[in-house]
Amino acid sequence: MSEKRRRPVRPSAGQASPQKTARARDAASGKQPSGNKAAFVRFCVSGGLIAGVVLASFSLSSVLPAPDDPLSASAEASITPEPSPSAEPTISPTPAAFAPFGAQYGYGGEELIPQTPTPVPTDTPLVFTPTPTDTPAPSGYATLRKGASSEDVRKMQQALFDLGYLTDTVDGNYGANTANAVTAFQAINGLEADGVAGNKTLTLLYSGDAKPASAAPATDFLILVNRTHTLDENYVPSDLVSIANLLPSDIVKVKYKGTQANRTATEALAVMLRAAAADGITNWQVSSAYRTWKEQQKLVDNSVSAYLKNHSDWTKKQALSATYNTVAPAGTSEHQTGLSFDVTVPGVSFTGTKQQKWLHAHCAEYGFVVRFTEKKQKLTGFIAESWHIRYVGLEAAQIMTANDWCLEEYIDVLGK
Ligand SMILES: [Zn+2]
Repeated sequence: MSEKRRRPVRPSAGQASPQKTARARDAASGKQPSGNKAAFVRFCVSGGLIAGVVLASFSLSSVLPAPDDPLSASAEASITPEPSPSAEPTISPTPAAFAPFGAQYGYGGEELIPQTPTPVPTDTPLVFTPTPTDTPAPSGYATLRKGASSEDVRKMQQALFDLGYLTDTVDGNYGANTANAVTAFQAINGLEADGVAGNKTLTLLYSGDAKPASAAPATDFLILVNRTHTLDENYVPSDLVSIANLLPSDIVKVKYKGTQANRTATEALAVMLRAAAADGITNWQVSSAYRTWKEQQKLVDNSVSAYLKNHSDWTKKQALSATYNTVAPAGTSEHQTGLSFDVTVPGVSFTGTKQQKWLHAHCAEYGFVVRFTEKKQKLTGFIAESWHIRYVGLEAAQIMTANDWCLEEYIDVLGK
């Protein structure tokens, strides 16, 4: 580490030190919640009988395919192992204790009764009492997925809206924003975050026990994502908003309807573009912001297909190698953080435009850095992109810019 790196140039007096920033970052860098394991454990211990019955019905319904949806069974089967161990504890208390409950309602209880019945732990006073027979049998929710349009979707959207996951209109159409809201709901509640609302997701959503969007960990604005610091397929940032709702439409066009990004970053972008307009620079466009892991993978796949189509003698490996020169492999794109924007001018190449020059000269004043420059290519692992800005917060942006550090260097200085 050079001497220069150890002594950051201060953009102005009175700012927090990088060390202070590091502490703040520590405080803010909570990972995805470990799920509802602890809550369920407390629930099980204190809830006694009622908890047992509720859990029993929840667990049973969660293992049953939705009655109206032949796809749900295969969809459940294809799901990769849970990203966190949180789902398992919801099965307790022991199956032996509640298998008869399911059997009573004709839920294939035989299959649920273990070969060797597991004794109920003596410290858990769980006694099975039959539920009155006039109680309707719990039925599974039919799986809802992107493209669906129905009253059930509307009901789900309303619940997501009430919990703060959906900020758009509740219209009964399961579009990209709804899928992202479902994904965020699943991530924060310790479920498989796939954006498909299966029985497990809907049961929790309507249970009254679901964690609201506000339960998400605070955003780590200095999160480092590159070819060696990758994000999990299930990583979903918190506090996503539809950017068109926050950006001034007379100054900036959102190229793709429904584009989302982190709320704070989007607010900063709005302030910045208003300032640009005050300087006489308008006609902006946001070409891309938040992208899911799967969306990034799709960009990779599309590029590979295009290369193979145009170069009939290429192998897939060659096409992939060419693709990775310009398209980040899934999990390595910081667009997945919701903190990056591709800022462009409609219909023209961005580099060299007055908008590009203004952006590079002023973005640090609003908490952004030009993330990939030619000079830092070896450190960032990406070729220069004049249009790609990343929100890091005002202080970090000013320190990084004053010292000519890319994010990798700044993180290094912070000792992370
Ligand atoms: Zn970009």
